Formats: sequence, structure tokens, C-alpha cells
Amino acid sequence: MRRMSATIIDGKAVAAKVREQVAQEVAAFVTETGRTPGLATVLVGEDAASAVYVGGKQKACAQVGIQGFDHRLPADASRETVLALIDELNADDRVSGILCQLPVPAPLDGVEITNRIDARKDVDGLTIASAGRLALGMPGLVPCTPTGVMLLLEAIGVDPQGREAVVIGRSNLFGKPMAQLLLAANATVTICHSRTHDLAEVSRRADILIAAVGIAHLVQGDWIKPGATVIDVGINRSTSSPPTLTGDVDFAAAAEVASAITPVPGGVGPMTIACLLRNTLTAARMTA
Ligand code: NAD
Repeated sequence: MRRMSATIIDGKAVAAKVREQVAQEVAAFVTETGRTPGLATVLVGEDAASAVYVGGKQKACAQVGIQGFDHRLPADASRETVLALIDELNADDRVSGILCQLPVPAPLDGVEITNRIDARKDVDGLTIASAGRLALGMPGLVPCTPTGVMLLLEAIGVDPQGREAVVIGRSNLFGKPMAQLLLAANATVTICHSRTHDLAEVSRRADILIAAVGIAHLVQGDWIKPGATVIDVGINRSTSSPPTLTGDVDFAAAAEVASAITPVPGGVGPMTIACLLRNTLTAARMTA
């Protein structure tokens, strides 16, 4: 029998609290302004996984009183058609937040489409303007998953100030904004990636270790400093039937060494949609 010493961080419970808080604040916002926050989702093509994600986001909006606008375009929609829809949503006062579900089918350019979104409505925080504001420490809309990780750390009472934080993964969607948020919270931040030499050694320095790679069980138990907080962002689907989800961390081994760890599923995942709802309310306030 393995000894499990780590606290398992209950992302579902923290996300439920965030959603409840958003619902209360949405109700107050409607009373104060007479406006209902609205989220427009744009899905191009018929990718089944993307359709499930968009459906989940729309359902979550309805549950907290945010009005959903669900736009679907065929896979062969032209660049001009997609950009015209984004322009229309930018100009629509009922729409506080806009997100285009990525990836978009080729030859469409997800970066171009995302950057067409008005920065004040950029609830995914992926435009150049939002990334720049985050880098400069200015208020703005921040990507949902890294925001969710910061809320999880807060929920378990881990203050990044003065701590060694290691982020494995340097994507624009997660790794880079995660590092910026930790830096803003006064952590000493190291970003690792596919070319990092001796990932294990760098990981062992971490008081807060965050893995966002997409390789099941990449992070081994002996990569973890005793007492560290481990946040597993990875989502990997097994080929078994039915498929199971695992993270990037060898959970059982890590839980023997860490002081706290997120499970997959039920850790970071639920925070992403909760933070999207939160961002939509923030966007509504910015354009009120
Ligand atoms: P990505 O593919 O854009 O980036 C992966 C990163 O991992 C890259 O920066 C790359 O340099 C790094 N990498 C690749 N191989 C490596 C290796 N062997 N060692 C160290 N680093 C390596 O991915 P992403 O969009 O940032 O997502 C990463 C993972 O997080 C995926 O599994 C994704 O599904 C998951 N994710 C989950 C959520 C959520 O809501 N829970 C949100 C975003 C991403």
C-alpha cells in the first residue's frame, strides 16, 4: 500500500463556489444596470470535441444568468464570413464577451480571428492587447485556465510570494500567462519546455509545480520536492474503451511527496469554465 500524504485539491468544489459568486454578482449587475451580461461563442466546423466544449460553456452561462449567443458556421466558412461575424458581435451591445473556439479548420487562421475580437470583449484573454496588458501588469482579461490555477492556490492558502514556481509548458494559452500571473504574485518563476535540459532537476526546485504539456505521467514522483504544491493541467485521453482521463503527473507517486495536488479529472478542468463566466461578468462591467 502506498502512503498518500497530499491534500487532494477539490477543483469541482472551488469552481462551484466561483460559479455561485458569479451568479450572485450577475444578478446584482442586472439590477444595477438593467443589462444582462452576454457571451457569444463562435464554433466553425463540426469537430465533436469542440462542439461539446461550446455546449458546456453555453449551458454554464444559462446557469448563472448570463445570456448565451451560440454561433455555428460550416467548416468551409470563408475568412471574410468569420471576420464579419466577429465584427458584428464586437458592435452588439448585448454581447459582453466573445470567444472563438480553437482550433478553427484550415485554411482559417485562429490567431487572426482571435485578434479581431475587441480586447474589452476578449474573455479568453488571447488577443495581443490582452497578453500585452497582462505582461505590463495592467488590468485586463486574463486567460481562464491560469486564472483558475491562481484561484485554486488561493483556496488552499498557498501564497506564491517568494516561492519557487516552475511551469512546464510555454503555450500562449496557458504556460506564458500562468508564468505572468505567478510573477505578478511575486513568485520566482521558471518556465520549462520541450528543449529544457534536465526537467526533473528543475522541477525539484519547485515549491509550486505546474505541468501543462499533454504527456501522460511525464512528471514522476521523484521530480517533486517534498511538501510542494502540484497543479496538473494536462488532459490526456487513454486509448482504452471507455477512454479515461489522466494528467501529466504520476498522481499516485506524486501524492506521496507533495503537500497538495490536483486530480485529473476534477482539479483544474472545472475552474476553466468557472473563470470564463467570471471573465464575461468582468467584460460586461468594462463596457457598462
Ligand atoms: P501546447 O501543446 O500548446 O503546449 C505544450 C507545451 O509543452 C509546449 O510549450 C511544449 O514546449 C511543452 N512540451 C512538450 N513536450 C515536452 C516535454 N517532453 N517536456 C517538457 N515540455 C514539453 O498545449 P497547451 O494548450 O498549453 O495544453 C497543455 C496541456 O494542458 C494539454 O494536455 C491540454 O489538454 C491541457 N489543458 C487543459 C486545460 C484545462 O482546462 N484543464 C486548459 C488548457 C490546456
